[in-house]
Amino acid sequence: MSNFSSQFGKSFLTSSQYISSGSNSDSESEVDDYLPESDETSELSEDEDVQLTFVMVEKKKLVNLFSQCPVCSSEASLRENCSGSLLTIHQLCDNDSCRFKRVCKSQEQLSRGTSEGNIAISNAIFMSGSSPAKALKMFKFMGMHVISYAAYMQHQKTFIIPSVDYIYDEEKAACMARVAGHSLTLSGDGRADSPGHSAKYMVYSLMDTTTKSILCCELVQVCMFSIYCTFKNLESTVVFSKSNETGGSSYMENEGLRRCLASVMQSATVKELVTDRHPQIRKYLRDECPEVKHSFDTWHIAKGIIFIYLSMFPCSM
Ligand SMILES: [Zn+2]
Repeated sequence: MSNFSSQFGKSFLTSSQYISSGSNSDSESEVDDYLPESDETSELSEDEDVQLTFVMVEKKKLVNLFSQCPVCSSEASLRENCSGSLLTIHQLCDNDSCRFKRVCKSQEQLSRGTSEGNIAISNAIFMSGSSPAKALKMFKFMGMHVISYAAYMQHQKTFIIPSVDYIYDEEKAACMARVAGHSLTLSGDGRADSPGHSAKYMVYSLMDTTTKSILCCELVQVCMFSIYCTFKNLESTVVFSKSNETGGSSYMENEGLRRCLASVMQSATVKELVTDRHPQIRKYLRDECPEVKHSFDTWHIAKGIIFIYLSMFPCSM
């Protein structure tokens, strides 16, 4: 699974690059004059870590390669089939004394019925944070055979997200193994999806201040009551849904820290923790983790001093 993820994690970079082949000698000079300098060579091709796997080939140029029988050089009948970006060509020699036949595919076919290029397209869209609908529409505007939106969603569910989960768990286990048995000084803070007290999700992170590596992240969802109204046959139905991870947005930071600390303390001890001056965190550490030295980070201290200064001298800034 890890090989799969790293292979297709890199392929999204390669599939999005245009490589000037310059193979047509008749128009080579014209093309060189026309193309801007930045299109002549991909910047990513200079990166040794990136494997450039795919090139753009015009369909009729590829099909013409199969117009002759490779055994007797007679004309050959062709039958083409596209499955997403995968082109399959069935070749049959027209010479009755030869009748050579073969099936050629433009990409490696994977075990689950799809091809390497189709997965690479889905992976490229996902890893680059693009909108799948817009990205697939772009390919259609180019006249390129491409996967459907439903196929993208299936690839995301079947291949990509399990790969991301696998790599995340693997990296997290490696981080924990590196700090196992150590006495750590950590710093932590939460990042919510919106400012103020109306956030729904928060990610709390704990960083090892020695190695500067993030040891643990936890996603916390606030308690929310949602009302969905559906109108059918002039009757309305009201559905209440509730997620009850915390009692409110102000509880999320403390909950995130609690989960992160519990995860880290399974393999290491925490001698000092640096956080903001969140009152619930101060109380939690004071009551539940008295052995951990609690420090406040200088950024929040400085911010507090500025607020006090502005309240005392409102016209000074
Ligand atoms: Zn033949």
